[in-house]
Amino acid sequence: MIINIAPIGNVDKGLIKYIEDHLSRYYNFSTQELKLNLDIKKFYSEERRQYYSTQIIQEAAKFTGNVKDKVLILFEDDLFVPVFTYIFGEAQFNGKHAIVSLCRLHEEFYTGKTNQKLFFERTLKEVLHELGHTFNLKHCHDWDCLMHTSGGIEEVDIKGSGFCVECSKSIP
Ligand SMILES: [Zn+2]
Ligand SMILES: [Zn+2]
Repeated sequence: MIINIAPIGNVDKGLIKYIEDHLSRYYNFSTQELKLNLDIKKFYSEERRQYYSTQIIQEAAKFTGNVKDKVLILFEDDLFVPVFTYIFGEAQFNGKHAIVSLCRLHEEFYTGKTNQKLFFERTLKEVLHELGHTFNLKHCHDWDCLMHTSGGIEEVDIKGSGFCVECSKSIP
């Protein structure tokens, strides 16, 4: 199973390496980087100062017909879908594409203080969560499971860093 990692904009190379290492060491995934030159300006809402996540995924899908397995988009800016103030990420349920916004995973966003370790851990959790959706997983009630839903950063931090036994069964 290949996870094609597609950074949009300036994404920390060290972070990408960290995610690649984790996905190949602890899961049956191989990773490669995918260059997507998307014109996403039109998905920016001036009013909300955020990008419309679903539209970015739809745009990406125009260029990934020949890409095998999963496409994981990493995005530095803030994302929204109309029903929520913001989202950490979005995925196509049982589909190919997932997107994770790094904006609100930075500790600076909340406290002004940099914490790279925490930032990397949060990103990994949200990456695995969104990938989980592409493997047909819905939200899980287990607070310790990566598929637990996260409405705020404290819920990202509180949940465990692995899938529960039941959810693990869906991850190849
Ligand atoms: Zn979710
Ligand atoms: Zn679970």
